[in-house]
Amino acid sequence: MTTQKDSRLAFLDVPGEMARLMREKDWADTPLGPVQGWSSALRSAVSICLGSRFPMVLYWGEARALIYNDAWSPVPGRKHPWALGRPAAEVWAEIWDIIGPMFDHVMSTGEATWSEDQLLPLNRYGYVEECYFYYSYSPVRGENGDVEGIFTAVTETTLRVLSERRERLLREVSEQTSQARTAQEACTAAVNALTTMPEEAPVCLAYLREGPSGYRLVASAGVAAGSDLAPVQVDGSGAAAPWPLQTMLSTARATPMGGLAPRYPDSLPRAPWPEPIEEAAIVPIQSARAGEPHGFLVFGISARRRYDAAYGTLLERAAAHVSTAINNAEVYEAERRRAEQLAELDRAKTVFFSNASHEFRTPLTLMLGPLEDMLARDPDASGDLRVPREDIELVGRNGQRLLRLVNTLLDFSRIEAGSVRANVEPVDLSACTIELARSFEMAMERAGLTFRVVCEPLSRPVMVDRQMWEKIVLNLLSNAFKYTLSGHIEVRLTERVGAVLLQVEDSGVGIPPEELPRVFDRFHRIEGQVGRTHEGTGIGLALVKDLAALHDATVDVQSQVGVGSVFTVTLPFGTAPAGDGARAEPALSSTAIGAETFVAEALRWLPDAGTETPVVDLTPEPETEREQGQGERILLADDNSDMRGYVARLLQASGYRVQAVEDGIQAVQAALDDPPELILSDVMMPNLDGFGVIQALRADARTAELPIILLSARAGRRRRSRASKPGRTIISSSRSARASCWRASKARCGWPDCAAKPRCAWAGTTKPSRRPSRNARGSGTGCGR
Ligand code: ADP
Repeated sequence: MTTQKDSRLAFLDVPGEMARLMREKDWADTPLGPVQGWSSALRSAVSICLGSRFPMVLYWGEARALIYNDAWSPVPGRKHPWALGRPAAEVWAEIWDIIGPMFDHVMSTGEATWSEDQLLPLNRYGYVEECYFYYSYSPVRGENGDVEGIFTAVTETTLRVLSERRERLLREVSEQTSQARTAQEACTAAVNALTTMPEEAPVCLAYLREGPSGYRLVASAGVAAGSDLAPVQVDGSGAAAPWPLQTMLSTARATPMGGLAPRYPDSLPRAPWPEPIEEAAIVPIQSARAGEPHGFLVFGISARRRYDAAYGTLLERAAAHVSTAINNAEVYEAERRRAEQLAELDRAKTVFFSNASHEFRTPLTLMLGPLEDMLARDPDASGDLRVPREDIELVGRNGQRLLRLVNTLLDFSRIEAGSVRANVEPVDLSACTIELARSFEMAMERAGLTFRVVCEPLSRPVMVDRQMWEKIVLNLLSNAFKYTLSGHIEVRLTERVGAVLLQVEDSGVGIPPEELPRVFDRFHRIEGQVGRTHEGTGIGLALVKDLAALHDATVDVQSQVGVGSVFTVTLPFGTAPAGDGARAEPALSSTAIGAETFVAEALRWLPDAGTETPVVDLTPEPETEREQGQGERILLADDNSDMRGYVARLLQASGYRVQAVEDGIQAVQAALDDPPELILSDVMMPNLDGFGVIQALRADARTAELPIILLSARAGRRRRSRASKPGRTIISSSRSARASCWRASKARCGWPDCAAKPRCAWAGTTKPSRRPSRNARGSGTGCGR
């Protein structure tokens, strides 16, 4: 209290703790001396300081003795109130190297300083602490103008600096762990991110659950893996663990533990601060399963901070990011496994389709061939069995239909396996489309439909795969026929800029709007759709779409129930493939079925089909003289005895001499012993396949020039390309063997445009004895050169 006796102490007579302490202090024992002797500058400065609610401190005189207000009193921690009146060098011994020169500068120059978020590692609670301040040292001049002291307005910014830094750190943890695809990756990413700020986590260990009750160290930083503090394996009881594992497992929170420095004097890092770490905290990585964390994280607490609620929150949030990343990784892994299983299933399905189609095709070939021969031999009945001709034709038609389905499945499996490419060639698309459409003329007439084919001449040929185009047109036409009970069907081909539009329009039952997006989906059929038949598999339009896509073409449909539908294929003119490839690879030829099968099927949908003999003639044409052999010797290699016998019989009946062998090795041996005029070989055979036969024979001068036909139900593009390299090697389907042999042996080509005439051997792929010109163009088969 000031007294009446000494009014010079009146400036201390203000409220507050510091004013009281100043009044009670014996200043004679301090470098500032008794209050009565203080300069007016000091008194004024003290008065401002004590009267302010902003944290302020004065460093006065040579000793920079401290005088501070209530707001500043927490700053020195436990040094308050001891610090009052003491020299700054004594109070701030631990940071004197930082602030001493700043004081000197202000005292000697009279210039103020300015420091923003300055790190001042104070020792105010018995340990060196990482703290940050925002302050300015301002000179206080006396009456004569000399700098007598320093006035400091100061704010501690430690909490803000730490909070911002921790947010950045958590962002880093979140970003890095979000990329993780496994739990291990999530932990490694988290530890890597956390070690970017060793001030927060000088030690970081990540353990993952292993087995029912154990944990394994999967990532570590700050201490060596396998050291006392970082055992590689920990059992679930935590008995041997250096941390309170059981406590941690019973809570979702961070659990601190102290006293590390004396227990692990050698394991603890001395970075980023020179002092050893005193504390650690352990925090579970929660999983969706209660009481079964994915694992846990161990953090070393900074040597210059003490574990508190904010620290705990930081660690829990970091662990939460790891937990999220692991949960996501588990979902991702489950999805990946599911996708892999689906892909595996898909592969298996494709292989199955491919194999099954192949297996179906061989017996079908063996059934349909003799059937056609039977019909050709006996025009009225079927010989001794006295089976009506209609029945045999029925078998034939249904066999053809089955073959079409099998071929379509094979097309799908090939397209899915990516082994199909449109084998484009310049085609007069108008003529080609007219020819295909006309094959339906008679069916349309019988159905009482008005049928128009309007294909305008195009300015130039279009690059298409003939067989694929055939399938596109025939599928669309057959659908139009199936779903149009009266009215008209129109096929239009028009030219647009850079593209050709094929439109198949009908006045049929139409498609409900909600079904339109799905009609091109595989196996999708519209429930209860009225049509000439309920037959169908839902694969026709899907195939059309896939085949169009192979030409960079699109397929659309516009339809109105009760009015009709228009299917539009927009096909670019396309460019010829580079090099000689335009006609080199007759892809998918073996699945071509021809218009007859579509039309025969369509005719069966007409009401009178059951009572009348179909008009479409499935009977093979009679053998013409030009397709008869004249005793030429053919070496036939096939491991399937049925097929071997069938083809041999066909050829012998056609005037050839046949030597049949069972595999490639026998074929090569027989050919070298006594070169035949022609070799007809299966592609897939045990011991040595058809390509091996070609290779062996081409390598020997005696057989290098021998014509070879590879006979395969699987004559895909890849195999063709391999076979087509040597001269006069062609691939034919089994059913065209006879025609192929005839042509090969005559060294004549049935394809009018073939540049390789007369050395090319032409291979048709439909019925053995049909005229080549029709099939060659209509079915898209061609020479194998
Ligand atoms: P499907 O073998 O059933 O004919 P598609 O894939 O060819 O298989 O056709 C799928 C479905 O689209 C058919 O089941 C039919 O309901 C419908 N659809 C196709 N073309 C037409 C059309 N021209 N008019 C009406 N509906 C059609």
